[in-house]
Amino acid sequence: MLKVEHIGIAVKDLENSNDLFKKLFGKSHYKIESVDSEHVNTSFFKVGRTKIELLEATNENSAISKFIEKRGEGIHHIAFEVKDIHKEMKRLEKEGFRLINEKPKKGADNKLVCFLHPKSSNGVLIELCQEMK
Ligand code: ZN
Repeated sequence: MLKVEHIGIAVKDLENSNDLFKKLFGKSHYKIESVDSEHVNTSFFKVGRTKIELLEATNENSAISKFIEKRGEGIHHIAFEVKDIHKEMKRLEKEGFRLINEKPKKGADNKLVCFLHPKSSNGVLIELCQEMK
């Protein structure tokens, strides 16, 4: 794994949270993106070499609305950049980690992504991501 690419934070209201995090970081988000397959709206902030991704559910089927229902707003996942996502998925599966999706899928911010089940990683939802060219 190369670095922490971003940290995902589940929020109830993206607009309110964009204002809040703008105050925190002293600058605005640089993009807003909807990921229909995940039923989320996202916004991204650059903070030094890493990013913060805010995630708002667009409906009740979203993993984000279930997460907030159970645990409230807060840190949802940590995303690590990898060079070759297929290779890394194979490696981690061999090491006993549970992959949530069998194949990488298209995520926000022009990335191929795969999630590891938090049950196999000490309660932390981990995202692997690889830049798409
Ligand atoms: Zn993410």
